[in-house]
Amino acid sequence: MVIAVASGKGGTGKTMVAVSLALAASEEKTGFRPLLLDCDVEEPNAGLFLDPDYSLHRETGVLVPEVDEDKCTYCGKCAEVCVWNAIAVAGSKTLVFRDMCHGCASCMLVCPEKAIKEILHVTGKIEGGTASSVDFARGVMNIGQAMPVPTISSLLKEYLPREREGLVIIDAPPGTSCPVVEAVSRSDYVVLVTEPTPFGLHDLKAAVDVVVNQLGIQTGVIINRDGIGDMKVEEYCNSENLPILARIPMDRNIAEVLSEGIPLIQGYPEYGKVFLDILNRIRKEMSQ
Ligand code: SF4
Ligand code: SF4
Repeated sequence: MVIAVASGKGGTGKTMVAVSLALAASEEKTGFRPLLLDCDVEEPNAGLFLDPDYSLHRETGVLVPEVDEDKCTYCGKCAEVCVWNAIAVAGSKTLVFRDMCHGCASCMLVCPEKAIKEILHVTGKIEGGTASSVDFARGVMNIGQAMPVPTISSLLKEYLPREREGLVIIDAPPGTSCPVVEAVSRSDYVVLVTEPTPFGLHDLKAAVDVVVNQLGIQTGVIINRDGIGDMKVEEYCNSENLPILARIPMDRNIAEVLSEGIPLIQGYPEYGKVFLDILNRIRKEMSQ
């Protein structure tokens, strides 16, 4: 089963939840190690809680066009087909703007002179290995790059083959745009983490629209920092028939433990049962 942990906005405790679910599953003694995939490639910090040993390091990126100027006739067909304006002909020069290229290969296919070949434009890397009780892999985007999706795609392609058994937890990027869709679309269930504030409610609604209404993935909600704000998140979940899987209270002690890089259920072992119960509830809902 693949469970993605997402949130409409950053800073809601999404990574804390993802790490806690993975560590709770590792204590189930089911005979397999859960896999935690950190797809928050712009800020991959789940590894800070796990201190993993990486055995795999691989560059990732986009296949971008490289033009053979000896063959190019500057006909402009490549620029005409590129909806991203990532290739242009200026006089007797064909220019490629690699950071705008989405690697669709259309320019290469339409070039009548076969003057274009693809080369890898490195935008990030993936790393994978083991932590003490879980398998762990992450994507890391290079500084200055604008497109997270290629790194997320490479990570999922490497670690999420269709036939994989056992439990996979995905720490998705925050927000509701393309990187989130890429990270959660192969999940069986999505846990949305929010907080009971007007901002939390606004971004939860946006996330529900993408995950439930557009992708059609079964979803539950965890309310973090419960006790601040108001009851509007709860009322919204009830009106949308979204199960509230857990409430984690606003607690300065929890924040202090997390700020030291200690996973919640190691700092406060009583939360092991809370997250185990969440996993069991998700399994039950999935089997209905
Ligand atoms: S389509 Fe081919 S030949 Fe025409 S400008 Fe582009 S690279 Fe050059
Ligand atoms: S590969 Fe696609 S996006 Fe990139 S320059 Fe060619 S047509 Fe444009």
